[in-house]
Amino acid sequence: MTRIMSTEDLIPVIAKLCMDACYHLSDNVIGALKAAYEKEESPYGRDTLKLLLDNAELASKEEMPVCHDTGMAVVMMEIGEQVSWVGKPLEEAVNDGVRKGYTEGYLRKSVYLDPLNRVNSGDNTPCVLHTEIVTGDKVKITVLPKGGGSENMGTFTNLVPADGVEGVKEFVLKSVLAAGGKACPPIVVGVGIGGTMDKTTLIAKKALLRPIGNRNPNQYYKELEEELLEEINKFGIGPLGMGGRVTALDVHIEYYPCHITSLPVAVNLQCHSVRQATIEL
Ligand code: SF4
Repeated sequence: MTRIMSTEDLIPVIAKLCMDACYHLSDNVIGALKAAYEKEESPYGRDTLKLLLDNAELASKEEMPVCHDTGMAVVMMEIGEQVSWVGKPLEEAVNDGVRKGYTEGYLRKSVYLDPLNRVNSGDNTPCVLHTEIVTGDKVKITVLPKGGGSENMGTFTNLVPADGVEGVKEFVLKSVLAAGGKACPPIVVGVGIGGTMDKTTLIAKKALLRPIGNRNPNQYYKELEEELLEEINKFGIGPLGMGGRVTALDVHIEYYPCHITSLPVAVNLQCHSVRQATIEL
């Protein structure tokens, strides 16, 4: 049965998701930072983690941004195939919501309308909108404000199949090492393996949505996540690059079928400000 929904109703919902994501780190993220604090051996690293935890607590209490860089808003929507929209075009409504959230929430406006001519849009639009049609009549919306520091450290490569898993590991580790402190660790490392260039980078970003501590259900990829996490935390980069054992909070791998001649790999890094808010309508 068709479910009629108005795009206009999305505007306040998305505005609130933008504000919630920028003000409040989830219990899952706070728990991971607290566990990192307990585990960290370096005094500088521990001090840094304490500052990050205090900052997150204050931001949440005062409803202020956890970080000054409130990012470019990435909006991911899973739309049930039984949903039929009325009202203004979907993308326009989503951007209206982002505009409202960033303006009323006093969130930094960080979007240039043209990457070379550098004119700020003034309201943090447009967002980057990904839509996926799924079964059912529900709509799931996730807002992921993505700061420049960690997003700029993302990488992609087309390995050849003969490079195999060793090539994948080498590429992921080299990417994290090259990012060093610039991605504001402790980071979450999203890895996409397979698909086509566009799909690989998208699943690397989607990997960041998985709660910290949740492993890939496939045993092979679960073990690969654990191995990479252990190797990354031997680098000594530490919290905010101050040195220490905890460089990454987690590694999440998503994979997808690929062409017989291909082995694409993407790495999308998420800084310690793991900001995301989700709602199901
Ligand atoms: S990488 Fe994250 S924590 Fe660092 S400045 Fe950017 S948004 Fe803030």
